[in-house]
Amino acid sequence: MTRRLLVLYTGGTIGMDHTPDGLAPVPGLLPRLLARFQSAELTFDVEEYPELIDSSAITPVHWNRIIGDIASRYDAYDGFVVIHGTDTMAYTASVLAFALPGLGKPVVVTGSQLPLVHPRSDGWSNLADALEAACQPDLCEVAIAFDRLLLRGCRARKLDAASFAGFDTPNAPPLARFGIKAEWLRQHWLVPQGPFSPITLKDVRVAALFLTPGAGTALIGQILAAARLDGAVLMSYGNGNAPADAALLAGVAQAAASGTVVVNISQVMHGAVEVGAYAASQPLARAGALAGADLTPEAAVAKLTVLCSQELSPEARREAMQRALAGELTLQPD
Ligand code: ASP
Repeated sequence: MTRRLLVLYTGGTIGMDHTPDGLAPVPGLLPRLLARFQSAELTFDVEEYPELIDSSAITPVHWNRIIGDIASRYDAYDGFVVIHGTDTMAYTASVLAFALPGLGKPVVVTGSQLPLVHPRSDGWSNLADALEAACQPDLCEVAIAFDRLLLRGCRARKLDAASFAGFDTPNAPPLARFGIKAEWLRQHWLVPQGPFSPITLKDVRVAALFLTPGAGTALIGQILAAARLDGAVLMSYGNGNAPADAALLAGVAQAAASGTVVVNISQVMHGAVEVGAYAASQPLARAGALAGADLTPEAAVAKLTVLCSQELSPEARREAMQRALAGELTLQPD
C-alpha cells in the first residue's frame, strides 16, 4: 500500500548551498533533491516555508505554523516529516510532542550536520530514515531521526556539533536503530491516547535559568522575583541541589506564590532531580519549585510553554507538569 506523507521544510543546514556569503538556504533546492525518494510505496508532498531559517531563529510563531500545518492536514496524510536545523531541533520536537496531544500518526523531525550538496552529507541517510519512520502506522509520537537512530523528540538533546552523532536521549532508550535492517524498538513506543487535539501556542513568558556559584545565585532569585514569568526552569546541581541562599529562595517563593510554575531540573546530563536524596535539595522544594525529575531543559521549556498557553489554573499547570504527558519523564514508583 502506498504511504502518503507531508514534508514540512523549515530550513537548516540540510538544504543550504554555498553562496558568496557562506552557507545559506537556497529555496527550491531541497524539494528538488527530495524527489529521488518518491516511489511506488512512498509518495509525499513538500511544503517549503516562505522564509527558510537557521533554526537558531525559531520562535513560537514558527512553531504555530508547524502545528497548524500538521493539524489542518492531519486526515490527508499517513505521517509527517519536519525538516529543521539541528540547533533547536530538540526544542521544536519537544514543543510538537506537547502541542499535539492524542497524536495517532508519526511526526519525524530531521536535518543534517552537512548540507546535501556536500559529498559526505549525512542528510541522505537522515532523510531516508525519517521517511521510513514516518511510514510506520503504529508510531504515534514525535521523534527525531538522526545518525541512524530514531529518538523520542521530547527526550532528545543536541549533544555534538562536530560529529554526525548530533543527538541522543540521555535518559531514555532509542525508538529504532537503522542498520542494514531497520530495528524497530516498538516496546519503547508510546501507546496512542486520542483524541487528537492540537494546541496553539500563546505569547507566554517562559525562561530557563542556569544556577552558578557566586553572584549568579542571588541574581537568579532577583530575576525570578521581578520577571513575572509564566514558567521558569531552574537548572540546579546534581540531584536537584542548590545553596540555601536567601535571595534565591525568596525569589522562588515569590514567583511561585504569584503563579509562576517553577520547575527544578538538573544541569547534569544523566540522572534526575530527587528531592530528599540530599538535604540540599529541600530548600528549593519548600520554596515552591517542582521537582522536574529527568526532564531535559528543552522538554521543560516546551512543556511549560504549551501548558502556559492553555487556560489552566496555576494548580492544574503544576499538576500536569509533574505528570508524563508524552513520555518525557521517568517517574519514580510511589
Ligand atoms: N545553524 C544550523 C541550524 O540549526 C545548524 C544545522 O542545521 O545543523 O539551522
